[in-house]
Amino acid sequence: MQTTVVDNLDDLQSSLRELAKTGQRIALVPTMGALHKGHMELVEAAKKYADIIVVSVFVNPKQFSAGEDLKEYPRDLDADIAKLKEAEATVVYTPSEEDMYPAGFATVISPGGIGEGLCAATRPDFFNGISTVVTKLLLRILPHVVLFGEKDYQQLCVVNQIVYDLDIPIGVIGVPTVREEDGLAMASRNVYLNSEERKIAPQLYAQLKEAAQEIKSGEGDLKSILMVAGTKLTQLGFAVEYLELRADGTLYSLDNYEPNCRLLVAAKLGSTRLIDNIKIE
Ligand code: AMP
Repeated sequence: MQTTVVDNLDDLQSSLRELAKTGQRIALVPTMGALHKGHMELVEAAKKYADIIVVSVFVNPKQFSAGEDLKEYPRDLDADIAKLKEAEATVVYTPSEEDMYPAGFATVISPGGIGEGLCAATRPDFFNGISTVVTKLLLRILPHVVLFGEKDYQQLCVVNQIVYDLDIPIGVIGVPTVREEDGLAMASRNVYLNSEERKIAPQLYAQLKEAAQEIKSGEGDLKSILMVAGTKLTQLGFAVEYLELRADGTLYSLDNYEPNCRLLVAAKLGSTRLIDNIKIE
């Protein structure tokens, strides 16, 4: 099937109306573009759930706060479209800011407590912006399923929360993090890393794994394990924003190890912000 590229709501909905006549299932993969193998894994995973794959490419200004990298965020729409054609996506939706937020647009979707702390501690507009754009994309496209990466784990939990709270009848699928061979989680912002930083960057996951192993072993208390891991990261050159153990799914704070939890980290290396997480079964 040929890939259709649309850049506005009218064209999106007329192609979806045609496709809906086939009665096939629809999957949505929302992205901000600068596509890498992690994104493409979501597209491949989507094929297990649906025949029609819609991929949105939109750098959502509402999830950037003042002083963040909205202007510098990597963009390469031609390369993204080529990759999505190669992957046989059915529809690629590349809305402009005006198409997504026409003049007078005012509503904000706020996910409550799950969208506070962790990434929101340093990015105050982040989860309201994500919740608002994801809700709009879901209602514009009405897919059967939507896919998100576990790399952005708090985002996945936030989407689960809004879909549940707002009775949006769409299945949310989490896809495991795709990594470089050295363990670094793939991310569009990795292109900002200089060659020195790129060599250090895999240590984020390495230290996360080591701390997770210690937490699971039950030896030593959580506070000191996290303090030692945080100090090691600092010595390696990271500026740690958070390193926290949370309950899997709900993201409740934990003072001690409990089964089904997740260790989450965000740290800056130079000017590049990296995030990662690991599930502790
Ligand atoms: P972004 O373009 O960074 O907003 O990401 C779009 C989607 O791709 C989100 O659901 C991300 O969680 C997911 N994603 C980004 N990087 C990865 C990765 N390395 N592995 C799996 N999913 C990813």
